[in-house]
Amino acid sequence: MSPRILIIGQGLAGTALAWRLWEREVPFVIVDRDEAITCSKVAAGLITPITGMRLTVSWRYALFYREALRFYRGCGRRLKQRFLFPRGYVRLLKNEQEIAKWEKRRRDPDMQPFLHRQPPQLNADVVHNPQNGFQQRHAAWLDTTAYLQASRAFFESLDSWRKADVKPDEVHDDAQGVTWNDQSFTHVIWAQGWSAQHHPLLHWVPFQSALGTILTVTADLHGEKRILNRGCWLLPRNDGTLRAGSTYEWSFADQNTPSPTQVQELEATLQTLLKTSAQITATQSAVRPIIKNRQALMGTHPSHPRVAFLNGLGSKGSLRSPWLARHLLEHLLDGTALDEAFDLQQNSV
Ligand SMILES: Cc1cc2nc3c(=O)[nH]c(=O)nc-3n(C[C@H](O)[C@H](O)[C@H](O)COP(=O)(O)OP(=O)(O)OC[C@H]3O[C@@H](n4cnc5c(N)ncnc54)[C@H](O)[C@@H]3O)c2cc1C
Repeated sequence: MSPRILIIGQGLAGTALAWRLWEREVPFVIVDRDEAITCSKVAAGLITPITGMRLTVSWRYALFYREALRFYRGCGRRLKQRFLFPRGYVRLLKNEQEIAKWEKRRRDPDMQPFLHRQPPQLNADVVHNPQNGFQQRHAAWLDTTAYLQASRAFFESLDSWRKADVKPDEVHDDAQGVTWNDQSFTHVIWAQGWSAQHHPLLHWVPFQSALGTILTVTADLHGEKRILNRGCWLLPRNDGTLRAGSTYEWSFADQNTPSPTQVQELEATLQTLLKTSAQITATQSAVRPIIKNRQALMGTHPSHPRVAFLNGLGSKGSLRSPWLARHLLEHLLDGTALDEAFDLQQNSV
């Protein structure tokens, strides 16, 4: 039987899978429940080499970044629209402790490809304490909204996109294949983000998802276009709006309502970065799919070989989804071995 794939979920994971199938000329149907707010729709789309409090290069960054650049540029060419924007990224150090840490880290050989030779030279009218920072190369941001919308329109034009809230018991699988809605497929790939923790076949995956809040802000940055960060990041988008974020809440009652405390904390942190006044015009929250102690997981279910999974992209969905999607499909369609770091079956209980 020639391959035909059913994808559940059109977030960053499902969209990358659909494009990879299109590139290989493998027929697919992608189904999404079309929620107004999802993790991928809310995401700032930042792709950043040196991250976190530890100031280290993000794991396998060069590999994922190369692939992401090629992939999003390819999608942009096909749809005659640009989605990925390489940008300088200025990280300002918060305190003496961070300055001391950076003094040690900045000479690491693996840092060098990502460090700009010039100091950031920020405008002191815009940013507090513009000294004590460094500028990163090979950073970018993905316009996730534009990428998801344009991809959806393209998949609709192929008659490969469906709106539905797929219940796990509507999808039947056996050794021969998968059926859903009277249609046959060779595989189903669940790429449904954090809600997979309620999937009856996947309840054993150790999800530890986190609610994130992001602000839309207006402020006069005097023409500054780079991404700025001190305690929180600030992204100048091409439409003139700014995004600032983001928070991590490990226990939350409501998946889409920003908590006032998180918004206040974010606003206070933003004030330590920006000297110029800033107005919050919108707040949004969504849940990042995170799997405990894993960068992401994918592969087929241990006892349902036609049922596959791609999830746990955490805060790196823009960077990693192109590579992960290709790798999973090579495993399903060509029989190549999965990278152990992401293999669902090696993490089954
Ligand atoms: C505030 C915030 C800021 C972020 N910033 C960044 C950033 O700067 N850079 C970055 O790379 N990442 C960022 N992220 C993380 C990024 O958004 C995630 O890595 C990514 O969106 C995960 O994509 P996904 O496709 O796995 O999940 P989702 O985006 O959750 O997509 C899953 C999709 O499946 C659909 N779905 C679920 N169940 C069903 C079903 N049963 N039937 C049909 N459809 C279904 C959902 O409606 C949804 O559309 C941020 C996240 C948040 C919350």
